[in-house]
Amino acid sequence: MQTNHSNGSDSTTGIVFDIQKFSVNDGPGVRTAVFMKGCQMKCVWCHNPESLSSKRQLAFNAQKCIGCRRCEQVCPNDVHSFTADGRHIVNFDACQTCGLCVDACMQDALKIYGKEMSVDEVFAEIIKDKVYFDKSGGGVTLSGGEALKQFDFCLALAKKCQQNGVHVCIETNGASKKQHYQAIAPYVDLFLFDYKATGDKLHKQLTGMTRKLVDDNLQTLNEIDAQVILRCPIIPGYNLSESHFAAIAKLGESMSNIQKVEVLPYHNFGKGKATEIGKEYSVEAELPEDETVNQWLEKIKSYGEVNVILS
Ligand code: SF4
Ligand code: SF4
Repeated sequence: MQTNHSNGSDSTTGIVFDIQKFSVNDGPGVRTAVFMKGCQMKCVWCHNPESLSSKRQLAFNAQKCIGCRRCEQVCPNDVHSFTADGRHIVNFDACQTCGLCVDACMQDALKIYGKEMSVDEVFAEIIKDKVYFDKSGGGVTLSGGEALKQFDFCLALAKKCQQNGVHVCIETNGASKKQHYQAIAPYVDLFLFDYKATGDKLHKQLTGMTRKLVDDNLQTLNEIDAQVILRCPIIPGYNLSESHFAAIAKLGESMSNIQKVEVLPYHNFGKGKATEIGKEYSVEAELPEDETVNQWLEKIKSYGEVNVILS
């Protein structure tokens, strides 16, 4: 990472895999969501599997491929090959993300997730929509992956947004360093803080990490009165239980800095994206009906005085 603060410019760089404009699901109002690569956790249901690795990654959409073999001709690393019956095989591990095959493909079947961008470049995209932010009470949301894994970049971008009157949210799994939460909190209006599973054993099984660091960081945000929305993905057959609902309500009730609880019902958008980058997606969960989701909200409310909404 490189930094240059002369003349208010900032060339600190980060690896961004998407910038979504006009998002209404990542914090209040109309927002620009900046998705950063890299995450400490490995949630089995991850809906952004292309975010998990900190590195750039090749993605292949088999539905778009017409088997012209242009990619095979240009790749210096023999990543693309074809079976006798014309099936396209991609050796993702051998890819050096040079992008030659992406440029060669006329069908848009290949892309690279992850682009190195400077704070100034990302900010230039964000500030274009300031008028919408101001009208709707929106702003920017730094997301991922885990945005705070690229702490220097996030800190510089959050500062720049604040200096320019842009409301800043950070969506976090809660697993970054305590010092990072403390250092960035003055530049963040709202943390969208994940609460993924109750109980150390289950949390580790589903995310790869125990709860300790996450709980400690939530406590730290509470001590400095940083505003939080608790975000709770509910995955039937994985983290859905009475004790989990009760724990969500108890947390929401006990911490005055938690504005509300947002329930994120399971969806399987991650499945197709995992296939595109050559990764496994093991979750077999039912997509919940609206009525079932409403019952979850009521159930959480029954366990405590807490403002619970659907994300
Ligand atoms: S990005 Fe480069 S190395 Fe990777 S598959 Fe395409 S041509 Fe080969
Ligand atoms: S260049 Fe594109 S369409 Fe042609 S074989 Fe490769 S991925 Fe498929």
